[in-house]
Order: sequence, then structure tokens, then C-alpha cells
Amino acid sequence: MKTFVDAVVVGGGVSGLIAARELASAGLSVELIEASDKCGGSIQGHTLGGIKIDIGAEAYSILRPEVSQLVTELGLSKNIVTPLTQGAHLILGEHGEQTLPIPKNSLLGIPSDLMAPDVLRIIGRKVATQAQARDKLPVGKLPATLGELVQERMGTDLLERLVDPIVAGVHAISAIRVEVDAVAPRLRELTAKLGSLSAAIGTISGNRGPSGNAIQGLRGGMGTLIEALVSDLRAKGVSITMSTSVDQVLATPSGWTVSTKEFELPTRNVVLAIPTWTSSRALEGDPALSNALSLLQSSAVRVTALMVDDERFNSAPLGSGALVSSQVSGIKAKALTHVNAKWEWISQLLPPNRHIFRLSYGRNGLLTRDQDKHTIIDDALHDLAAIYHLPVASIKLVDSATCYWENSMTQALVGSRDLLDQLDKLLETRRGLGLLGPGISGNGLAGVIFNAKVCAKSLVESGNA
Ligand SMILES: Cc1cc2nc3c(=O)[nH]c(=O)nc-3n(C[C@H](O)[C@H](O)[C@H](O)COP(=O)(O)OP(=O)(O)OC[C@H]3O[C@@H](n4cnc5c(N)ncnc54)[C@H](O)[C@@H]3O)c2cc1C
Repeated sequence: MKTFVDAVVVGGGVSGLIAARELASAGLSVELIEASDKCGGSIQGHTLGGIKIDIGAEAYSILRPEVSQLVTELGLSKNIVTPLTQGAHLILGEHGEQTLPIPKNSLLGIPSDLMAPDVLRIIGRKVATQAQARDKLPVGKLPATLGELVQERMGTDLLERLVDPIVAGVHAISAIRVEVDAVAPRLRELTAKLGSLSAAIGTISGNRGPSGNAIQGLRGGMGTLIEALVSDLRAKGVSITMSTSVDQVLATPSGWTVSTKEFELPTRNVVLAIPTWTSSRALEGDPALSNALSLLQSSAVRVTALMVDDERFNSAPLGSGALVSSQVSGIKAKALTHVNAKWEWISQLLPPNRHIFRLSYGRNGLLTRDQDKHTIIDDALHDLAAIYHLPVASIKLVDSATCYWENSMTQALVGSRDLLDQLDKLLETRRGLGLLGPGISGNGLAGVIFNAKVCAKSLVESGNA
């Protein structure tokens, strides 16, 4: 029998765990409800051939302070690891025949130096010279989509050859559908201020070299962050209910009622830290809010991990991995990570000639949950072979694992900024309600943590406890 609490947090991914931590730290009694039997959401560990790896999120950006701060607060600083600096590659060409390193100083494929040798190798000197000339033109009103911004400042050829494959790999949609402000909030402002897109990229990325230089991970995997957060919540007195799905959240005269199949829980504050699609259904009693939430899109992702024995991978031919251009036919994966080439702590756990790869799927929402497991593994093996130009039958599989996340990647589509503003307006009159999760908080752990803290702070400051 559950009794009244000051706040209910729905969803035990990072958003929900951070919101619960902040609310409990402010002195509220908190109940966290998670549908599955594990907290972590998109951060999940998986044991492959006896080794625990991250099958979901595996790293965090250090261009923002949020995750590093959390890691320190939770006493995990000693476990911080930096990826080995071999950069990742881009697979291009109709059949994936071209494999080139991703330019070192770039953000979402947009280079800060158009004449850098690694940029010239992909786009050629003619396209680079044209792009440089365009980027020197006076800056007018800048377009809202990333694709149009790149087209206007650097031209279509650069967009197609360099930016689109990387954006599609990271955000699972084409750059022409991505809203700039949703994925790089200061980019338009800095481009206008500095008079150049490449200069703006240099300022944001800090010209840190390979993208891997701006990320870190944790020895033992990002799952250790979730374990530490859950222990911290328990120490702060947060009650955690697992394997229980919240079906409905209804406003009442004194606050909210959160309903599951097993119980109803009255509270003054609710944070929904679940995909917008699920929040929309839970809030059907509030049609305006439910409708606005249903318009914020998120899509599914699948990661398949393969452990193989093969000395041909010992030299890490593609460094830490590769992003596959959507124009390549015959490869379904959008990205591949050579896990032990990227993370030394994993390579130290493996016997000689053993390798781990992660292949991610889910370009443009083309995924279904019910695919047959054998087909999924066969597809991944086929893609691994195609990416490294090896005969598939020659690869010796030791172990495999696969994980599917429904509605877990925010689609930063054009108009999403306006929709989020509309949602904020609606929330002004829904006292005690906070909204987080995929579809709202973006696709990076730093932004997700930032939003969860802001959400909890605003509930505490509204005095609704
Ligand atoms: C495969 C993958 C790899 C990624 N890699 C990286 C990376 O390397 N670096 C990075 O910065 N970001 C990465 N991201 C993004 C990042 O992991 C996510 O943005 C972040 O973890 C989202 O956290 P969240 O809590 O908002 O949502 P989620 O992690 O999706 O958590 C939502 C939780 O709510 C629960 N839930 C859903 N419905 C209900 C319900 N009705 N009742 C109760 N509980 C419910 C779910 O079970 C889940 O636990 C990755 C994402 C994915 C999917």
C-alpha cells in the first residue's frame, strides 16, 4: 500500500534518477517508478563473452560540465577513461568502397578549417575553395535547419559528402530535417557574430582534434554511473518501485494521482521522465498537453554487439569505428564502434585476437521491435564484413547480444523548438508537473542532466511541497 509522497518521478533513466536526486536533496519525499526491471534506460550494461560492456550510451561529452560534475559527486572520478585517440571513419560511395577519416576539427561534420588535409581528402580542393568563398560572404538571416545552414554557408557538395552522413549517423535523420537550435544551440548566434560558420565551429568545438578528444567514459562502463546514482537515491531515502509501468497521470484538486495496474499514488508533484509518446498517453485526461507531447518525435534504436576472434582487426583498420553514409547501399547499420580499439580498459580484458564491435541501427525510424534475433545477428555480421571488406564466412563469432530501445532518440525535427516553447507555456498552468525524457531533452547525457536539474529546481521553487 503506497501512501502520499511529495513527488513521484516516473522513469528510471538518467533524467528520472537526476530529477529524483535533486528533489530528495531539497527535502521532498520521493517515489521513483520504473517500468522495467533495471534502471538506466538508454544506459545499459551487457555481458558479452564474460565481459561487461555498455550496449547503450558509452561516453559523455566534456564540452559541457554536467556529467563530469556528477561523476565527481558520486566518487567515480578515479574510473574516468579517455578513448584511444585513433579517430573514427566515414564510409562513403554507393557500395561503401570509400573509407576516410572523419576530419579532426569538426562538429557534426562541419569543419572549422576547410583547407585541412583531412577535409580536402573527402570534399576535394575545388569544393573546399567554393565553400571558403561562400563562408566569407556577409551573414544575413540564417536558416533554421542544419542542412540549409550548411548549404548556404558552405554549399551543397560539402553538405552531401561530409555533414549529412555524420548527422544521419548521430541523429538518425538527414541534416535537412534537423533544427540547428535543437542540436547546436549557439551555432547560429556565433555564425552571425563571427561572420563565418567555420569560425563558429572552431569556437564551439575548441579545435580539440579528433571528436574522441572531447568525450570520456568510465572504466567498468557507464552502467556504473547508474548503479552509483541508484545507491545515492536509496541513501537519500527515495523509494524505488521497479517493474511497474505508469499508465495514467491525472490532475486532482490537491495535486496529481499517478496510476499503475497495481496502485494509485496521490502526490503534489510529478515528473514524467519517459518518452514523449508514453507521456502523451498517460496525460490523455489533459488533451491540450497530451496533443502537444504527441507532436514531439522520438525514434527507436537497436544496438547489436558482436565478439569475434580475428587477428585481422588487431591493427584497428578503422580506428575507433565508422559512420555509414545513408547513400551506401548494402549496409543497414548507421554506425559501428570497434569497442576495444576505442577503450583500452576493455582491450586489457580480452585475450589476443579477440575483438568487440557495436553496430547501431535505426536510420529514419525504419526499425521494428519484433525482428527475429538470428536475422539481427546475421545482419550485423554481414555489415561488419562489408564495412571491413572481408568475406562474411571468414569471421569467427564468439558471442553476440542485441538491445532495442523504443522511442529513445529525440528527433530534432524542424519546429521542435517551437513545440518545446508551447509545452513550457502549457506547463505554466499545470502546477507541480515536470516533463523530461526522450523527445524533450535531446540526445546527449550532459543536456539530459542539465534539463533534469532545471526541472526539479523549478518544482522546488514553485513551493509545491
Ligand atoms: C543506443 C544509445 C546510445 C547512446 N549513446 C550515447 C552516448 O554515448 N553519449 C551520450 O551522451 N548519449 C548517448 N545516448 C543518449 C542518452 O543515452 C539519452 O539521451 C539518455 O540516456 C536518455 O535518458 P532519459 O532518462 O531521458 O530516457 P531513457 O533512458 O529512455 O529512460 C526512460 C526510462 O523510463 C522508463 N519508462 C518508460 N515508460 C514508462 C512508464 N510508463 N512507467 C515507468 N517507467 C517508464 C523506461 O523503462 C526507461 O528506463 C544514447 C542513446 C541510445 C539509445
